[in-house]
Amino acid sequence: MSDCLFCKILDGEIPADIVFESDTAIAFRDINPQASTHVLIIPRKHIATLNDIEADDEGIVGSLYSAARVIAAAEGIADEGYRAVMNCNAAAGQTVFHIHLHLLGGRALSWPPG
Ligand code: 5GP
Ligand code: ZN
Repeated sequence: MSDCLFCKILDGEIPADIVFESDTAIAFRDINPQASTHVLIIPRKHIATLNDIEADDEGIVGSLYSAARVIAAAEGIADEGYRAVMNCNAAAGQTVFHIHLHLLGGRALSWPPG
């Protein structure tokens, strides 16, 4: 998608601090971090929202969680704990319409989220 911010990061048109890459996903640090670790994990395939995930995408979406596991270990937060969440549409605060897992850790996270 030519007008998608995260597709532009995938294409290298917009710089990002990339911490993980695989055949199906990449991950980079959030520009406005909400915790000492705040990484966004995105599929290489443009999917606008969680509502748009199709049955054929299950492997891709699973790979986002595999990436979260690897990155959490690399960041040293796997044992203490972290959160991996995806916002869907306006009420949940989604602002970039290319699905992404927020990987947050390095501090105590309250529940439920606001
Ligand atoms: P959402 O609100 O859609 O769940 O999350 C979008 C996230 O993308 C936000 O946490 C925001 O800080 C981050 N973000 C927005 N623009 C950029 C950017 O240009 N680069 C990076 N690395 N993160 C961005
Ligand atoms: Zn996109």
